[in-house]
Amino acid sequence: MATSLSPLLKQATGVIAARGEGALIFDEDDRRFLDFTAGIGVTSTGHCHPRVVAAAQEQVGRLIHAQYTTVMHRPLLRLVERMGEVLPAGLDRVFFANSGSEAVEAALRLVRQATGRPNVVTFHGGFHGRTVAAASMTTSGTKFRSGFAPLMAGVHLAPFPSPTHYGWSEQEATRFALRELDYLLQTVSSPADTAAFVVEPVLGEGGYVPASTEFLAGLRERADRHGILLVLDEVQTGWGRTGRFWGHEHFDGRPDVVVTAKGLASGFPLSAIAASEELMSRAWPGSQGGTYGANAVACAAAVATLDVIQDEGLVENAAARGEQLRAGLEKVAADDDRITDVRGLGLMLGNEFRDHAGEPDGATAGAVQQEAARRGLLLLTCGAWGQVVRFIPALVVDEALVDEAVGIWAETVESVAS
Ligand code: PMP
Repeated sequence: MATSLSPLLKQATGVIAARGEGALIFDEDDRRFLDFTAGIGVTSTGHCHPRVVAAAQEQVGRLIHAQYTTVMHRPLLRLVERMGEVLPAGLDRVFFANSGSEAVEAALRLVRQATGRPNVVTFHGGFHGRTVAAASMTTSGTKFRSGFAPLMAGVHLAPFPSPTHYGWSEQEATRFALRELDYLLQTVSSPADTAAFVVEPVLGEGGYVPASTEFLAGLRERADRHGILLVLDEVQTGWGRTGRFWGHEHFDGRPDVVVTAKGLASGFPLSAIAASEELMSRAWPGSQGGTYGANAVACAAAVATLDVIQDEGLVENAAARGEQLRAGLEKVAADDDRITDVRGLGLMLGNEFRDHAGEPDGATAGAVQQEAARRGLLLLTCGAWGQVVRFIPALVVDEALVDEAVGIWAETVESVAS
């Protein structure tokens, strides 16, 4: 019987990777690709950073798996301790799972148990994962929801302040979003029924749209006023990606719960939520767990990842290379009226494509992304219409590679006709 991969999967590049090194991937013919996808923002320290490889190899030979509610292990304890160096102030209790979706589910269970309230409010364009509860909270595109109904009840949707989408200034979009949120709390999900606001500091899959300081401050103020918890989904924005350790550090977004995954372990499956002891102890012991959570090799890789981020100044590098990349992308956009917006933070940058009528142009964005791959630059699209081409390289990317990527990008955009 000839077997092959399920057509459920949609391939973005068709490249078969044989090995990776830093921000580069080599295919089976040893062709070199600039990997500005980083496994969707996962390989924060680059592919196969020697210190991450050494830590994982050492751990593989020592202990691969010890189910963490049965037996604990040193890499887990070391990681918990080290996370104290980077977690937002006061969030001193950590729970581990394997993926972003699972961590979002863990946060959902926590806030429901802790408050005794059934509902959560999420924000339009948000992506929180593919499991049923996480998909119920996901509105970055119908492809993540269509045909899966009925999804989970108790999720209510408010606008995210997206200036490009509404054609407004950031201030106008923020005012609208907060006003609609108040209306929602007054008409649909009363504060007494609302456990949490769940939001990304930068919409990721929804199109690389940063929140605003006023918006996150507005959420914080309403959360405090109504006893609602603020859950920040930092799965894509955390661990240095935006040029600060956490995406919300760009804004006034003090969270009650932070959700993290992706860059945390340089490619090993690991995710976490963190909250205060007071909040975590309002949930029920033993109500969460899992067979593989906090895998020993993944935890060892996460500790090494944090070492590398700190020792090599990767957060600062993300900020500096992000500025360089943004300047290059803006220059390309200035010469091409199909690219109407270059936006994002640090090394999380998107280019919005619009057609002559000003409508989102997923067809051109997709064609450009495909052509870039043919020319050796791996990119992804995002946004509800697939109209945004995003750049999300490893945080170790250097000046020369950023220049090379911008060069390929300029040629690619020029070569693709609308
Ligand atoms: N939240 C955000 C903000 C994400 O970007 C993602 C993944 N793109 C997830 C949650 C889900 O993570 P995972 O794919 O690991 O389940």
